[in-house]
Amino acid sequence: MAQATGTATMRAMVFEQVGQPLRAVEVPIPRPAPGQLLLRVQACGVCRTDLHLLDGEVEIAAPPRILGHQIVGTVLPSGRAGGDGDSQGDRRVGVPWLGWTCGECVYCRSGRENLCPNARFTGRDLDGGMAEYAVADARYCFALPESYPSEQAAPLLCAGLIGYRALRMCGPARRLGLYGFGAAAHILAQLARWQERLVFAFTRSGDEAAQGFARELGAVWAGGSEDLPPEPLDAAIIFAPVGSLVPLALRALAPGGTVVCGGIHMSDIPSFPYSSLWEERAVRSVANLTRRDAEEMLALAPQVPVRTRVHTYALQDAGMALEDLRAGRFTGAAVIVP
Ligand SMILES: [Zn+2]
Ligand SMILES: [Zn+2]
Repeated sequence: MAQATGTATMRAMVFEQVGQPLRAVEVPIPRPAPGQLLLRVQACGVCRTDLHLLDGEVEIAAPPRILGHQIVGTVLPSGRAGGDGDSQGDRRVGVPWLGWTCGECVYCRSGRENLCPNARFTGRDLDGGMAEYAVADARYCFALPESYPSEQAAPLLCAGLIGYRALRMCGPARRLGLYGFGAAAHILAQLARWQERLVFAFTRSGDEAAQGFARELGAVWAGGSEDLPPEPLDAAIIFAPVGSLVPLALRALAPGGTVVCGGIHMSDIPSFPYSSLWEERAVRSVANLTRRDAEEMLALAPQVPVRTRVHTYALQDAGMALEDLRAGRFTGAAVIVP
């Protein structure tokens, strides 16, 4: 077939180097390798990790790189990109941060592929979804609940999945603190409440918008990060990339409680008295996700049902979406719609 797909191009937003904004470029539409799917991107969520990548706090080893790791796309017959009505069949999938694992290391073989040292991450090691098309390993493409429009589904793919993994680390904790009430917390609050947990939301002090949003989503209490909750917490998840929240969250815990750090990067944690950790309190991090996390969370979300609040941006405005996220200019999650 003389369908010159090799020369067809697409618009994409690429990271070139630390300290520079994303650049709008025209690049060839990627060709799927064996085992990969070619996707027409319908929506791509923006994540705080994208800011860490932009700022060099998490390294992109081989730029230029198309960012975006919460991709909702329709599967195209390979080589059919660029045509009219090219999403025939309309099979829709979601692609998360974990884009490839080796399947052979000790972590992969013990249900901990999230820790695979050979893993490749979407939008960091592999081109992501801030583009009109993307390719992804079929093993890491997940069916999405049909009840979600694409832009509503996108935030489930990182904020939702890694948030869900963080919640699993909290065990049966009934009184749950969420520090930083952004994309992940707004999803988790709904899930946690459905699980009959009590949600306590902590935001920057005086952030009435975020605290009101948290109460709207069922938080029994919302206040500033420096405040103590009205009763001690059984677990707390920290989503804000702020190390000084760790001792604050520990101080809010009941004996035996756990603080889970949910982000990929955090500023240094200040020292704190041993008495804050005493009585079997624990501090731990959550890294990435496994396919099991994805399957479980994507099955749970429509049961709750989790409703995501999204702010959509055009592809060329991805840089603006990132700066709005940095400045806290919206509640909920930002999503790029190419
Ligand atoms: Zn993310
Ligand atoms: Zn591995």
